[in-house]
Amino acid sequence: MPEGSQGFLKRERLQDLFDLLVRFGFEPVGPRVQDGIIVYAPLSGPEDLPWGVRDLQDPGSYRIEPDLGERNFSWANGPQALKPFLFAPRDTLWESRRDISGPLSFSPLSPPNRRLAVIGVRSCDLAALSLQDRHFLKGPFPDPFYKARRQDLLLIAVDCSHPARTCFCASTGDGPEARSGFDLALGELDEGFLVRPGSDLGRTLLRELSLAPPAPGMEERLTAQTDHAASVQERHLPPGEFRHDLVSRPDHPHWAQIAARCLSCGNCTAVCPTCFCFSEREEPALDGHHSLHVREWDSCFTAGHSYLHPAPLREDTRVRYRQWLTHKLGTWHDQYGRSGCVGCGRCLTWCPVGIDFTDDLPRLLEDPDGG
Ligand code: SF4
Ligand code: SF4
Repeated sequence: MPEGSQGFLKRERLQDLFDLLVRFGFEPVGPRVQDGIIVYAPLSGPEDLPWGVRDLQDPGSYRIEPDLGERNFSWANGPQALKPFLFAPRDTLWESRRDISGPLSFSPLSPPNRRLAVIGVRSCDLAALSLQDRHFLKGPFPDPFYKARRQDLLLIAVDCSHPARTCFCASTGDGPEARSGFDLALGELDEGFLVRPGSDLGRTLLRELSLAPPAPGMEERLTAQTDHAASVQERHLPPGEFRHDLVSRPDHPHWAQIAARCLSCGNCTAVCPTCFCFSEREEPALDGHHSLHVREWDSCFTAGHSYLHPAPLREDTRVRYRQWLTHKLGTWHDQYGRSGCVGCGRCLTWCPVGIDFTDDLPRLLEDPDGG
């Protein structure tokens, strides 16, 4: 097989890929069915992957059910993205100690050293990872926790073949095909996987696998499958950017209509692969001599997140939801040169009341005064 081109991995040889990852010092992590959802978890081998299941997703609704096929990836993303692997829900950043006879001492802490190989990453999550990389790594003060985890992360992407009804990555330009940001990418067909490299390490791994070239027609079938996955997406974001319209109409009446349904629970920000807000606090020990400084995910839907003495700036759900969507779809352009939405659809599926901003956005973009 020529260097850099695709190879064909029979499904029965998936174990070879796992063995190779372990031989290169990586701990395989990937999708598996747990408690009725597909989550990322440690995998001991291909037998732990989902086999013959599909998902049914709608705003406020998720379930999986048996599928007649034998594929491993014929479903769309579950609630987890790559985010928790790099920007953990909770990290202890440092600890402080007070000696009974001396001053305070502070000790920085580091994340546990794990070399993870994440299998089954979708293109929307690769796009989100690139945004999180920019947020946490660029600039004068890269985040040391994120950086330590990122440099030991191997990514094995999978082209999406079965988008959920809540997916709209085709309209944001972030899917369904994995185009960059991975080490290896898999395109799944009934009989196995077309494997292509995306990095030097990926090329090395592919060489080690010693795959045969794809049979005639396989690449065309994969392209047709990916095109179909884009064309069947029911939802989309309107083209263009909405920064001006969202920012210039803070009193649009539709914000109040959304707020009447929103529970301010923060599920949407927890599952969103690009949301990066956090808060920090001290956890003092009862002995009075020891304290941990903890960082945890926060959300623009909590009162504390906008607290400036003596009160929260965003005191009700209307302005919290408005902050979230205006930042995500509008002012992200000022910070990062693009929208903060990669079209993964998680915030629709995992919203307990099924709020669907692809439905609300056209109304928010209408001038309420008819102008
Ligand atoms: S805003 Fe919603 S659809 Fe967009 S990236 Fe975040 S969770 Fe996914
Ligand atoms: S939009 Fe939905 S998920 Fe987000 S805070 Fe409101 S109720 Fe919770």
